[in-house]
Amino acid sequence: MIKKGSFKNMKNLNMKNVLTLIKDHQGISRADIAKKVNLSRAAVTNIVNELLELKLVKEVRAGKSSGGRRPILLDLNPDGGYVIGLEWGISRLKAVLLNLEADILAEEEIIPIDNSLKEYTKKSFNLIDKFISTIKDEDKITGIAVGIHGLVDSQKGVSLFTPHFGWGRVEIEEIIAEKFDYPVFIDNDVRMMAEGEIWQGKKDFIFINTGSGVGAALVFNAKLHYGVNNAAGEFGHIKITDDGPICECGKKGCLETLIAEERILNKYYNKLNVDIKRSELSITQLLKDYKKGSIKAVETIQETSEYFSRGIADLVNLLNPEAVVIGGLFASYPEIFLDELKTSVSDKALDLAVENLNITTAHYGEYAGAVGAAEKVLNNFFAVD
Ligand SMILES: [Zn+2]
Repeated sequence: MIKKGSFKNMKNLNMKNVLTLIKDHQGISRADIAKKVNLSRAAVTNIVNELLELKLVKEVRAGKSSGGRRPILLDLNPDGGYVIGLEWGISRLKAVLLNLEADILAEEEIIPIDNSLKEYTKKSFNLIDKFISTIKDEDKITGIAVGIHGLVDSQKGVSLFTPHFGWGRVEIEEIIAEKFDYPVFIDNDVRMMAEGEIWQGKKDFIFINTGSGVGAALVFNAKLHYGVNNAAGEFGHIKITDDGPICECGKKGCLETLIAEERILNKYYNKLNVDIKRSELSITQLLKDYKKGSIKAVETIQETSEYFSRGIADLVNLLNPEAVVIGGLFASYPEIFLDELKTSVSDKALDLAVENLNITTAHYGEYAGAVGAAEKVLNNFFAVD
């Protein structure tokens, strides 16, 4: 009998290896699998039979034959499993349903009535139920993942600190697992976004999320780096200037105080001498003014890029990644920020550290947190140890 959550059927490492091989080499033969995983043909046949029974893979006929029968090849069955990803954002809750090939089958965005844990939990349960009801076989749910801001202990499944929600310690994994009998994963929202890039095949990179705050996820050899207290990646609190404004962390001159959305707008507002209320000023307006060549807007953007690139250059010198992936606010305006940043980082960092560096925007836009969360489940499902 197939138990809930195909994960439970994947304890066998050889089985997992074979499945991942089929995912990575769609249209592979049993003979080629045997060669690549170093198992006997009989063992491979048994494993493949089990995978076929679980409907995780499917048989396909090869297009061409070199005389005689056309060989039977194997493909991943995209509908062999489904994953659900949620992003518990500040005043926004996003959720997606993906199949095994990470095609987005459904996406939803809800504005919670308040920031309470009860509200986020209730709305999430409704969304998860709704997604599950669209699937013929609910046992095919492979896992559920939630990304949330702040400090998260993903091993224990606990949210430790949420500055914007003020919840204190919350056992999110347990709360969800009590209601839904599937594997549950939780992590910091930026790390979830980085999981999305790992799914896309990136291995050594820094993911930087920008907007109301500035956070980063560090990925080495396709694995997230957490630090001893799960606090690695607090990029927003790198000290950039001596005389900068006071940060929410209590210190002075943090990057976040110079490039977070509110701070950029405050700075621009202070430069302007026009009759406009601060509340009417938006990033869209600033960028419109920039494109028109308004000197104050150009100055504001250049200063922002300058500060941001100082932080990135330090990271690049230290870690020498293949890519710096930018998500959030700045990713929405690549035509303005990306070129400025590339030039500015190259000027500041060591030649060798930037020689093959790719500074780019996140693969997923608005739903990066929710899709990344869902792909964390997939990354785990297909992980080969
Ligand atoms: Zn700070």
